[in-house]
Amino acid sequence: MTDIQFSSVVKRYGALEVVKNLDLEIEEGEFMVLVGPSGCGKSTSLRMIAGLESVSAGELSIGGRVVNDVLPKDRDVSMVFQSYALYPHMTVRENIAFGLELRRRPKDEIRRLVDDAADMLGLERVLDRKPKALSGGQRQRVALGRAIVRQPSVFLFDEPLSNLDAELRVHMRAEISRLQQQTGVTTVYVTHDQTEAMTMGNRIAVFANGIMQQVGAPVELYTNPRNVFVARFIGTPSMNMIRLRVSEDGGRLSGEGIDLALDAERKAQLAGYRNREVCMGVRCEQLSEPSGISGEAASMTGKIEIVETLGHEVIAHVRVGREIVQVRLSGLRTDLRAGAQITVHLDCSDMLFFDPDTELRV
Ligand code: ADP
Ligand code: MG
Repeated sequence: MTDIQFSSVVKRYGALEVVKNLDLEIEEGEFMVLVGPSGCGKSTSLRMIAGLESVSAGELSIGGRVVNDVLPKDRDVSMVFQSYALYPHMTVRENIAFGLELRRRPKDEIRRLVDDAADMLGLERVLDRKPKALSGGQRQRVALGRAIVRQPSVFLFDEPLSNLDAELRVHMRAEISRLQQQTGVTTVYVTHDQTEAMTMGNRIAVFANGIMQQVGAPVELYTNPRNVFVARFIGTPSMNMIRLRVSEDGGRLSGEGIDLALDAERKAQLAGYRNREVCMGVRCEQLSEPSGISGEAASMTGKIEIVETLGHEVIAHVRVGREIVQVRLSGLRTDLRAGAQITVHLDCSDMLFFDPDTELRV
């Protein structure tokens, strides 16, 4: 069942359109992530759900009810921000209970809800502490607790982990996912971090310049991006984009350091690009060192420019003609040196093609 629906939603500030014609349906109980670079309209979209920003055009519904003109307090949503201002003079218990006290809920009910939330978040032993006596992660959990006790029908998160250090971020990522699965509450989560998006979302909506580029399950976006932006934004390292020329007869694809034959299927796919350039998208895991006999048609040769050692694997940046191609090589590789020549084998089974002008998938 659809829980939140954007229908042709536009947000303008004066003449500036920051969210353009957004159509997006979020299912009941779903964990939806809005991801994209800074300034692409993620927070604005989230704040429209919360009612903190008005909708300039189109229709926004929650639970089947159009909420364009519904006040934030009547929307039954809870929002957690990046800066989780806790009241410094109140204890953890009082901070979590504060919203319920305002709503004049019965004392014993408040106590029970706070205890349940503290239990879920591992805050039982710090309920009597003040925020200054908490770690960053505990403070963030108190902010989550405040949202949980309200028992909203929708959770909204705006970059809630950005202020935490890397280790804690990974930990809290798992904790928020678990919490969402436990409560089953429809959740919309904003982040600029594609790893956060990939690991947390049931589905991900990728934004750029106020336009939703694509929405889908993490694996779908990874394997089936509809344009260059999504292809490069999702996944790390970014998908390699190599400009190649399709031969006159459509049978070969070539550039400096690379020349490969196209099978019948690929030939048909690229029929419109004969004697023209096309962008080939290749993930770094599709590139490997030739082992034994490699088809000469599916290899490329270049010079190593940078070697990034990650311990169990190495990312080599290889210059092939005009392009820098990132290659993932497994194992402890102390033999790889900048300046060395390398030939890499290209697994042609999953390569993607993009139009160099429109940047759309061919
Ligand atoms: P994101 O959360 O994706 O980083 P935002 O949704 O916060 O981006 O902002 C989208 C765009 O809208 C940005 O270019 C931002 O400068 C602009 N913007 C946000 N709020 C306002 C405002 N109150 N007035 C004018 N422009 C705004
Ligand atoms: Mg933002």
